[in-house]
Amino acid sequence: MEKICVAVRVRPSANEEFVNGFSWKVESNRISLHGSDGTPISGVSFAFDHVFDQECSNARVYELLTKDIIDAAVEGFNGTAFAYGQTSSGKTFTMNGSENDPGIIHRAVKDIFAKIQKTSDREFLIRVSYMEIYNEDINDLFAVENQKLQIHESLERGVFVAGLREEIVNSADQVLNLIQLGEGIFGDTNMNARSSRSHTIFRMVIESKGKDNKCSNSSTSDDAIRVSVLNLVDLAGSERVAKTGAGGVRLKEGKHINKSLMILGNVINKLSEGGKLRGHIPYRDSKLTRILQPALGGNAKTSIICTVAPEEIHIEETRGTLQFASRAK
Ligand code: ADP
Ligand code: MG
Repeated sequence: MEKICVAVRVRPSANEEFVNGFSWKVESNRISLHGSDGTPISGVSFAFDHVFDQECSNARVYELLTKDIIDAAVEGFNGTAFAYGQTSSGKTFTMNGSENDPGIIHRAVKDIFAKIQKTSDREFLIRVSYMEIYNEDINDLFAVENQKLQIHESLERGVFVAGLREEIVNSADQVLNLIQLGEGIFGDTNMNARSSRSHTIFRMVIESKGKDNKCSNSSTSDDAIRVSVLNLVDLAGSERVAKTGAGGVRLKEGKHINKSLMILGNVINKLSEGGKLRGHIPYRDSKLTRILQPALGGNAKTSIICTVAPEEIHIEETRGTLQFASRAK
């Protein structure tokens, strides 16, 4: 079992008032809470594989957290990268980025095609799909008519989302255009509000085979067809429902989100325990973990970036996120 790489990223402050003067300090791979006089608050200090401060660029996050997953995916290993955190903590900034500093998805797509270009002895077939899980319904972000899709399982295909559109793609630009269209599928303004309450999964399936099959010995591993799945996941906001004072639809959404994130936490926690202690892994308890199962655990490479807000009013949510991150280590 590959170790899961866990990182925390603090976004820049939105200039809100710091009433009691509490602040988070980042030192190398540790984040801790300090009081107004600068003394550390006992027990509120966490270490991870990486902790990125507000200055950190998407380029660096990608380099340290995702590049290995992408390289391995081209070699035939499954991988998943998640962004976890409360709404407005920087998940989408990390995954999608800005014009000046493209996010993980953009960089991954570019890198994959660059790598393929350099791999002259193999032929590649790349397929992409893009879906959201909203209120436990799976919707296709490439085809608005494909809503409430079902998860199926077969010997041949393993676990799959029936009817999900897969586009065969030949260039990074083609993929980035498709993503942009997918993001507008429910209307631009709608998507923004909606995205904090849905999980979105961008998936690439990378298939390759050796080019001159006839000449080489067919028993060599280079000859075999390799298929790998790469998931880049922007999770729904992890804030507790009660805090938002929601009722009705919002409350229902919130309960689905909290439950699926809790199950994700359980799955990841089990995976990171490793060895014989691990026991049953509850992939089947949520649609999210079921869909991701083939590329989560086993020899798949996984990284989680937990984004947090630095402001004092978010201390409890930030602690919650750091606790989630600690369980994943
Ligand atoms: P989330 O997806 O978690 O709800 P966003 O990614 O939308 O949060 O971030 C909220 C706001 O903060 C956005 O305006 C975004 O551009 C900004 N932001 C988040 N992280 C960073 C960062 N590391 N550097 C600069 N701006 C950021
Ligand atoms: Mg977002």
